[in-house]
Amino acid sequence: MGIFSFFKKDKDKEKVESHEEVHSIQINAENCQGCGRCVSVCPNNAYELIEGKSSLKENFTCRDCKVCLAACSNDAITFVN
Ligand code: SF4
Ligand code: SF4
Repeated sequence: MGIFSFFKKDKDKEKVESHEEVHSIQINAENCQGCGRCVSVCPNNAYELIEGKSSLKENFTCRDCKVCLAACSNDAITFVN
């Protein structure tokens, strides 16, 4: 309950260069305080706030910088391989 999982959709080119694994990003809505830091820092504008909770946009792209992970001080964002 309260945990949403989103799968990355744009890994084709970057994956070849960086050898990164495709993984999912999970947002724990119970931990999310709606501070908006993930929304502000993501270079791909992947996040949005919906009713005070962080959410990944439907067609978001991700470059695996993990800036959002560092920005969230509430342990609401998790990367899962
Ligand atoms: S940085 Fe963390 S607590 Fe703040 S809106 Fe994003 S997921 Fe929620
Ligand atoms: S890892 Fe980087 S590009 Fe991907 S969602 Fe987080 S801040 Fe955005």
